[in-house]
Amino acid sequence: MKRARAYTIRSDTTSKTVIPLSVPCLRGNEWAYVKECLDTNWVSSVGSFVERFERMAAAAAGTGHAVATVNGTAALHIALKLAGVEAGDEVAVSDLTFIAPANAVRYQGAWPVFVDAEPMHWQMDPQKLRDFLRKECVFAGGALKNRHTGRRVAALLPVHILGHPCDMDPILEEAGAFGLPVVEDATESLGVLYNGRPAGSFGRMASLSFNGNKILTTGGGGMLVTNDAEMARRARHLTTQAKDDPVEYIHGEVGFNYRLTNVLAAIGVAQMERLDRHVADKRATAKAYTEALSKVPGIRCPAEPKGAFSTFWLYSILVEEKIAGMDSRALLRRLSGKGIESRPLWQPMHLSPAHRGSYATDCTVAGRLYREALSIPCSVGISSAEIDQVVSAISDVNG
Ligand SMILES: *Cc1c(COP(=O)(O)O)cnc(C)c1O
Repeated sequence: MKRARAYTIRSDTTSKTVIPLSVPCLRGNEWAYVKECLDTNWVSSVGSFVERFERMAAAAAGTGHAVATVNGTAALHIALKLAGVEAGDEVAVSDLTFIAPANAVRYQGAWPVFVDAEPMHWQMDPQKLRDFLRKECVFAGGALKNRHTGRRVAALLPVHILGHPCDMDPILEEAGAFGLPVVEDATESLGVLYNGRPAGSFGRMASLSFNGNKILTTGGGGMLVTNDAEMARRARHLTTQAKDDPVEYIHGEVGFNYRLTNVLAAIGVAQMERLDRHVADKRATAKAYTEALSKVPGIRCPAEPKGAFSTFWLYSILVEEKIAGMDSRALLRRLSGKGIESRPLWQPMHLSPAHRGSYATDCTVAGRLYREALSIPCSVGISSAEIDQVVSAISDVNG
C-alpha cells in the first residue's frame, strides 16, 4: 500500500532529494472542498465546513462538543482561561513537550510547574505529579499552594506526546483528590486511545492541532474539544471577540480573534475523512521500523503503552551512545549527510530560557531523553523503500 515518493529541497546553491521527517498528506477531497468554498464565496470564519469539521473532530476525540480555532495554542489558551487559571496561579505541565502549552500558561499570566517524564513512554510521570501535589504543596486559605512559590495550583495540563497517551488514571485520581481541572494537550495524539477511549476525552477540555506536521493538517488550525456544553459555548464566544449582540457591536468582556476560516475547515473535513487511513499508515511505519531497528545495538525503539492504542505520530528512537558508538546528534548529522531528515526532541521546559523562573520537579529523565532521542522520517505515505533506506543508514552506526 505504500507508494514511492521523492522530495526536493533547495538551498541557494544545491538541490538534493531527501526523505523528510514528516510532511502533509493531502490526497483526499481537499481540492474539491476548497473549490466549493471559493465557488460559493463562503471563505471566512462562518460556513458549513467549520460546523462539519467541528462535528468530525468531536467524534474523533470522543467529546460532545468542539470549537475550531486558528491553531492548537489558541485552543490551549482559551481552555486554560475557561478552566479558571488566573494571573499568578500555577499549572502542572509536562516537562518534555513542545513549548506551546507552557507558553499558553504564561498567556494567562500564570506559571507552569514542570513535571518530569516517565522513562518508559516519556509522558508526564504520574508519581512525580503526585509527589509534587502531596509533598511540595499545602492547603492554605482554601487553595492548594506550592510551598516554594506560594502560588495557587489551579490546573493540570498533561501533554500526550508523540502519538502516545499519558497514563491518565493516576493523573485523574490526583485531579479528583485536589479538585483540579484537567486540560489535555492532545495536539500530537489525535487518534490515540487510552483504555479504549480517545486522548482528549478525559479532561474538562482538550486541545487538538492541525499544524503542518500533525497527523492531520489544515496548514494551521486547532480545536478545543470538551464534553461540557457550557464550556463549548463560552469558548465559541471568547474566540469570536466575545460579541454579545448579533447586530450591535457590544462586547461584555475582552475576547479573542481565534476562529478558523471555512477554507481551512474544508481542508480539515477532507483530512478527517482519512484519519483512520493516516493512523493505520503511521502504525505500519512504526511496526516496520521497530522490527528492523530493535536489532541494532544501542538503538531503542518506542513501545505502545499497556492499554493504549498509539498512532506513533512522530516515530522517535533513543540512541545509547556507549553502545551505538555515537550520540543522537552525531547520528542526526550522519543521516543528514545521506539526505535523510531527522530531528531531536524539544529542549525540556525546565531548561528553556523562555521559562526561567518556573518551578520544576526533578526532571532528570526528561533531560536524558532529550539527549538521547531522535525522531526519524515517518510521513503518512512514506514508502517501504524509504523506510529501508532510513533503516540501513541507522544500522550503519556500528559499522
Ligand atoms: C503542535 C503542538 C501544539 C499546538 O501547535 P499549533 O501550531 O499552535 O497548532 C501544542 N502542543 C504541542 C505539544 C504540540 O506539539
